[in-house]
Amino acid sequence: MRGRQVVIVGGGPAGYEAALVARQLASEVTLVERQGVGGAAVLTDVVPSKTLIATAEWRSVIESADELGVHLDGATALPVDLGEVNARVRGLAAQQSADIRARLEREGVRVFDGAGRIVTAGVVQATAADGAESELDADVILVATGASPRVLSSARPDGERILTWTQLYSLTELPERLIVVGSGVTGAEFAGAFGALGCDVVLISSRDRVLPGEDPDAAALIEEAFRRRGMRVLSRSRAAAAERRGDSVVVTLEDGREVTGSHCLMAVGGVPNSAGLGLEEAGVALTRSGHVQVDRVSRTTVPQIYAAGDVTGVLPLASVAATQGRIAMWHALGDAVAPLDTRNVPANVFTAPEIATVGISAAAAAEHGARATTVPLARNARAKMQGIHEGFIKIIARDGDGTVLGGVVVGPRASEFIHVLTLAVTTRVTVDQLASAMTIYPSLSGSMAEAARQLHAAPSQR
Ligand SMILES: Cc1cc2nc3c(=O)[nH]c(=O)nc-3n(C[C@H](O)[C@H](O)[C@H](O)COP(=O)(O)OP(=O)(O)OC[C@H]3O[C@@H](n4cnc5c(N)ncnc54)[C@H](O)[C@@H]3O)c2cc1C
Repeated sequence: MRGRQVVIVGGGPAGYEAALVARQLASEVTLVERQGVGGAAVLTDVVPSKTLIATAEWRSVIESADELGVHLDGATALPVDLGEVNARVRGLAAQQSADIRARLEREGVRVFDGAGRIVTAGVVQATAADGAESELDADVILVATGASPRVLSSARPDGERILTWTQLYSLTELPERLIVVGSGVTGAEFAGAFGALGCDVVLISSRDRVLPGEDPDAAALIEEAFRRRGMRVLSRSRAAAAERRGDSVVVTLEDGREVTGSHCLMAVGGVPNSAGLGLEEAGVALTRSGHVQVDRVSRTTVPQIYAAGDVTGVLPLASVAATQGRIAMWHALGDAVAPLDTRNVPANVFTAPEIATVGISAAAAAEHGARATTVPLARNARAKMQGIHEGFIKIIARDGDGTVLGGVVVGPRASEFIHVLTLAVTTRVTVDQLASAMTIYPSLSGSMAEAARQLHAAPSQR
């Protein structure tokens, strides 16, 4: 089953990681991409947002240096040149895209710049920017076309003042007042970042609290941090419309209240890029939300057609997209493959502090016969030295044998820390084993070991 023709439509993490696997398995690979290699992940979503957040973090660090005895002599403000920041963001994204393209070409992947459309289960039509069309024969097709920002008809982005997250990087000046509609991960990350950059931010949340999908203690901590830093958070407030009024944007809430700002970011989720691809005509089933229906080895309802990434709606993460893409190729090309297991996927919210989670939630602990313990970072010696006042480490472990089933880290660089808990959850480590690995003193990871020790069960309870 080697040496087959693979055509991949979409060059984001799902598509380009699949292309590398398919080449490794000696297939002829053509990757059709209409926007730029790296996909939305590299060009408009992950890379740009985290690069912007890196600048926001530095500004926060400088602001908090005062407490540690470093004073900005005479300086009262820390002005941010958003034009410069965004030029760096765009440059970095373009460079990352070029690096990935070079790697693909080095490995022998043919990159076709244009739009792909499935004609039959064995043929993809690729249309270049100049309109030239090519028919690509395929033994295996992978659909990896990602998703796009959801647009509400009553709040159409104009690219100047009413913006989607993909349009933020053309701004040259900090908005005077940014209204962020949506308090999920994307809304919370941008609200936090723009607040930290020195912008007046109003966050409109339709729910009781921000980040409704996250650990409630973590979400409460972030909301409290947002408010403390001067952000106005409007909870239980659903935006009905957003419109330009001269140089202002007015967001009207469902209860009739109006919120005025200079700019508005619509962060109300994404929609799969599944329309117009010829999927249904080829027999590929879509879900009611328009996602491509796949199983755990990325198969669609048509044997030769696979799908991976955001277009499948499994979990909207670059890491999951890449894994699904690799699995698709391993399966299609006859290599050993383990189905996707979404239980052990770590996820991070890049707010300040960050929230990283893995495994089961504390709320689900009881139904799994497990219990949770939380250690606040404020009592950690290293945290005190570094001026870290908020954050915690929470571990969820099964009663009796103490197997680690989940965890939450809220703190600086939680995205790095969570790897220890991901390893524990994935390899079924017990709290006693976790506690037995010595940690550096002083270090924040000492609190991880402390939480594990707290969950040690007396012999009579095992
Ligand atoms: C603001 C934001 C921040 C995020 N931050 C993170 C993060 O920190 N970590 C994380 O893991 N995830 C993050 N995500 C999620 C992540 O971006 C996605 O999960 C990831 O991009 C999905 O990868 P993909 O390969 O499925 O699709 P994409 O990256 O969307 O790539 C799909 C590609 O397919 C192309 N395409 C579509 N249709 C066609 C066609 N007909 N022909 C040719 N090409 C086509 C598109 O142009 C696009 O380039 C973030 C998302 C957003 C919105």
